[in-house]
Amino acid sequence: MLRLHTVVETKKPHPCGGKRWEIVRTGADYKIRCLTCGRVIMLTPDELLHRVRRIAEDA
Ligand SMILES: [Zn+2]
Repeated sequence: MLRLHTVVETKKPHPCGGKRWEIVRTGADYKIRCLTCGRVIMLTPDELLHRVRRIAEDA
């Protein structure tokens, strides 16, 4: 479901206003990149699942 390069939409927007993120790393920790400002944040898989509203684009 949440594979590398999948684009997801979060429930809460990033402070920059962006809601779409690309998954750039998977594993024990996930890294997602804001498609609006380019900032990368690290999350645990549980945190990511809580934040995601839907899959915007499948990889
Ligand atoms: Zn951003």
